[in-house]
Amino acid sequence: MIGSDIEGVGTPGVGFHSPFPMQDGFAFSVVAGEPHGPRLGQLTTPHGVIETPAFMPVGTQGTVKGLTPHQLGDVGSQIVLANAYHLAVRPGEETVDALGGLHSFMGWDRPILTDSGGFQVFSLAELRDLDDDGVSFRSHVDGALVRLTPERVLEIEAALNPDIAMVLDHCAPGSVSEAEARDALERTMAWAERSTRHRDQISTRTPMAVFGIVQGGVHESLRREAAERLRELPFDGYAVGGVSVGEERQTMLRSIPWGTDGLPVDRPRYLMGVGGFEEFRVAVEHGIDMFDCVIPTRNARGAYLFRLNDGPLRIRNSAHKLDPGPIEEGCDCLACLEFSRGFIHHLYLRKEMLGCTLGTIHNLRVFHRYLEKARAAILAGTWAEFRSGTASLEEQYRPVAAGSN
Ligand SMILES: [Zn+2]
Repeated sequence: MIGSDIEGVGTPGVGFHSPFPMQDGFAFSVVAGEPHGPRLGQLTTPHGVIETPAFMPVGTQGTVKGLTPHQLGDVGSQIVLANAYHLAVRPGEETVDALGGLHSFMGWDRPILTDSGGFQVFSLAELRDLDDDGVSFRSHVDGALVRLTPERVLEIEAALNPDIAMVLDHCAPGSVSEAEARDALERTMAWAERSTRHRDQISTRTPMAVFGIVQGGVHESLRREAAERLRELPFDGYAVGGVSVGEERQTMLRSIPWGTDGLPVDRPRYLMGVGGFEEFRVAVEHGIDMFDCVIPTRNARGAYLFRLNDGPLRIRNSAHKLDPGPIEEGCDCLACLEFSRGFIHHLYLRKEMLGCTLGTIHNLRVFHRYLEKARAAILAGTWAEFRSGTASLEEQYRPVAAGSN
């Protein structure tokens, strides 16, 4: 099926609509804004509705480090990300399955997305043996040989049973040549096709959506082609992958629309492994609906706290020792409402667990507050004001950690 046969194609301001139904139990609608962004969306899943654009905290091992699921919900997290590969290695997907699936296992009854683990596999480049059928590598835990194929990844994910499963893709470093990026793209497309065929063979407790992934490195023509080919496959949503893998920051930002322009306007779009205020703003303007990144959580553990209205705060700094005020005036998180900067400073210096918990609660709340404001601006038709009002924030923050695990 080709794009020009589809109703809506070529209609200014409307864009390409997917010819495929979404998985039972799922729906996506753009409720305000523009079809290609910025847009306010609602993604319905079997475990609840997600308002987009949304940030997904990273819980690689089925837990966002230091937070209970209750705390995670309280900071405004609507959906959490876990990693299929890591959970397959330990404790094993059959263990998670035996304990009722991932929602039950981790005590979180809201939406979950699992990454396939492809990013981790391909970032361990020296350990892998890649062919067109799949990828083999040594386990990062015990050195045992692990084989991942598109089919095997979907079977692991079916056992875990998140709401959204990512397919296995070939994520090449940002520095590779166009020929190598073409190879990775062709392999990713072949694996995507196999994934859409195999999903019909697997059964899950609750319906599971499957997202395809746009690759193509830093090459515009490849990314555009990838998006247009991928939309011909029956995926429930589409991710832009292979970004933030070593290429220049500005190149990454510029490449976002190459991957999104050709995607169906009526399906959710997920920018993988990218966070930060400038990244959010640029991506939302190109119609991205979902993000994940370790920046807020990892930085919290490193005592680096974000703030929406003031500069970043290094909580270990002795200037905070006698400070009775909150981390950020006006923040509605538990850490800011109930604890002083001086106390949190003390917790970090003493390496008390509660310090990282409170820092993580605050940093996640800041990321969610940013996107809550973005959603409110899209709804109110005041995106231009929002954009100029957050410009200084983008200047202040240069993410100090990236990656998607
Ligand atoms: Zn706070």
